[in-house]
Amino acid sequence: MPRYGMVIDLSRCMGCRACMEACKVENNTPQAIFWMYVFRFEEGEFPNVRQWFMPRPCMHCDNAPCVKVCPVGARYKREDGLVATDWERCIGCRYCEVACPYGVNYFNWKRPDRNYYLDWGVPELRSITSGAVPPYRNPDLDQPYGEEKRRIAGGGHVKGVIEKCTFCVHRVEKGKLPACVANCPVQALLFGDLDDPESVVSRVLRQKPHFRLLEELGTEPRVFYVGGKPPGPETRQIEPVRARM
Ligand code: SF4
Ligand code: SF4
Repeated sequence: MPRYGMVIDLSRCMGCRACMEACKVENNTPQAIFWMYVFRFEEGEFPNVRQWFMPRPCMHCDNAPCVKVCPVGARYKREDGLVATDWERCIGCRYCEVACPYGVNYFNWKRPDRNYYLDWGVPELRSITSGAVPPYRNPDLDQPYGEEKRRIAGGGHVKGVIEKCTFCVHRVEKGKLPACVANCPVQALLFGDLDDPESVVSRVLRQKPHFRLLEELGTEPRVFYVGGKPPGPETRQIEPVRARM
């Protein structure tokens, strides 16, 4: 059984947010919900200002507080390390959202708008795409996954249910990389089996100093950062969005 993890190289990330976009397209996440979020930071005073960027998926913690608090077992840890949400079992109590120190859980307050990206049915688009209209729903997202055969991919965009990054379980189970990893133009994101000494993640972690976010909390995240440092008191967030971590 593999033990999946992610390595994020902060020295490579240029903040283009292709990973965020790839995640939204792959997982059909509703408006204002970002399973992957790239924080944009700045430090220093003009003219000596430095910008840097920090992609933040779910950390798929080994000691995940979100798993412990879920009263119905909808949030659980798989043997391969993915922290999954069974959206058929979730009762929307939002305990996981409160327990997670990384702010990666999103609650669906309303029924997601199916035509959020584009209304593929309008005649203008039909003529451009010659009828090859991509479906709003990725059919993979509604399947049961894992030995446990639970519904844990991104199909659960229903009102009253919590959702978060799945490490693209529907792709990983087919031997593919998560969409964010596959679409980063500068290979800032790496994914693989932490137990395999030859995997790309193991090799990078052997070679480079690394840290995990809020490591002091004992959550044992499966996401490792190299090529930078955690945000500190001197770090300012560039955008006026509410920080979710
Ligand atoms: S796609 Fe790669 S470079 Fe662009 S923001 Fe995401 S991690 Fe950074
Ligand atoms: S980052 Fe949050 S949601 Fe993800 S496993 Fe850790 S505690 Fe759970």
